[in-house]
Amino acid sequence: MTEKIKAIRGMPDILPKDTALWLGFEQHWRQLVAAYGYEEIRFPIVESTGLFKRSIGEITDIVEKEMFTFNSKDNESLTLRPEGTAGCVRAGIEHGLLYHQVQRLWYSGPMFRYERPQKGRYRQFYQVGVEAFGLEGPDIDAEHIFMMKRLWGWLGVEAAVSLQVNSLGSSATRNEYRKQLIDYFLKYENELDEDSKRRLHTNPLRILDSKNAAMAEIIHHAPKCHEHLDTESRVHFEGFLQLLTDAGIPYTVNPNLVRGLDYYNRTVYEWVTNSLGAQGTVCGGGRYDNLVAQLGGEPTPGVGLSAGIDRIILLQQALGVLQTSGIDVYLLHFGDGAEQKAFLLAEKMRTQIRDLRLVVHCGGGNFKQQFKKADKIGARLAFILGEEEVRTNTIGVKFLREAQEQRSISINEIHQFLTQYLGR
Ligand code: ATP
Ligand code: MG
Repeated sequence: MTEKIKAIRGMPDILPKDTALWLGFEQHWRQLVAAYGYEEIRFPIVESTGLFKRSIGEITDIVEKEMFTFNSKDNESLTLRPEGTAGCVRAGIEHGLLYHQVQRLWYSGPMFRYERPQKGRYRQFYQVGVEAFGLEGPDIDAEHIFMMKRLWGWLGVEAAVSLQVNSLGSSATRNEYRKQLIDYFLKYENELDEDSKRRLHTNPLRILDSKNAAMAEIIHHAPKCHEHLDTESRVHFEGFLQLLTDAGIPYTVNPNLVRGLDYYNRTVYEWVTNSLGAQGTVCGGGRYDNLVAQLGGEPTPGVGLSAGIDRIILLQQALGVLQTSGIDVYLLHFGDGAEQKAFLLAEKMRTQIRDLRLVVHCGGGNFKQQFKKADKIGARLAFILGEEEVRTNTIGVKFLREAQEQRSISINEIHQFLTQYLGR
């Protein structure tokens, strides 16, 4: 037998048994961004390597070891995007969308990181994100929190996620804090692991992020960034927290939350869950007021978030969020004249209700066999068209997901029945 070609490691297929949840997520997401007036932007999957080096930072996990980088035929170094903000900002600058304007943008699509694959951590994974430009105040930072809170509710995972926040202050504060951290960690240099030693002089903030239990005590006593904020950043942070409190959104200030990328300043946050083991962060975000200028644009404040769809779907599955196939009606037919009538009726129903999801049984079989198919496919309703129904111009309706008696309705009532039942 010829050898089978397999998928690339860490790049999973998403199969029909799971795509209903993915589709559900995408529908909720689109509703969410529309409700807040965000517009979609689409940028390429491949960009110049320099874009990511300059924005994310040379001494970060992503740039040091996680990028899929290759040379094009004309010897240009290209990289599969590991995240969305850099490409979004690049496109915004290139097309004059940012300078002196307020923009609320969203994106969605695959991202690529060369990581050790495990559950919830892949080499091709999917993110949605929002980015807002031209707004300095903490109100827009809070808006992003409100959005995600609403989304968690819609997805049925609200009880399983919690919000951690921190402020990194201005770039000046951050630099000052960086020095303090170096001084502090130098005292414990021998107790640091290899990664942390390497980062000590280049990116000491990342040491705070370490999950190494042997260093937990040292990290716990390290100077705290949010206690050394410049006045403006402190006021900004307090304003942000007040808006969360006013909206009744619980949060924890986590002084060790620094996020892995270099471009953040002031607000940073993560939505985390305990239901997914080590891959517990489902969404991360924050402010990046210097990034636009750093990438060659006019100075423009920015703030955004990205959420990992793969992990959100895993979370829904872990919580047993109801997964339906998305099929509304499965149409069974048997007996003389039923098949022809079924197909005509199906076409008519699809014309009457634009977003009806209807499957007509194909391949024959008796009532029992067809009914099994309807159930297996996960439809909400079975419509039955047998000899009796053809004769009396009616249809039998069986409720597959609710405890309701089977009933018979006239063909002319189908439209009214479906719009009422589906609420569309
Ligand atoms: P982690 O600490 O888990 O590595 P991260 O800080 O690298 O996450 P971000 O760069 O903030 O992640 O990306 C935003 C979100 O994208 C994460 O919260 C997560 O849900 C998702 N994500 C990141 N990397 C992966 C991956 N390799 N596979 C699946 N989802 C991912
Ligand atoms: Mg990571």
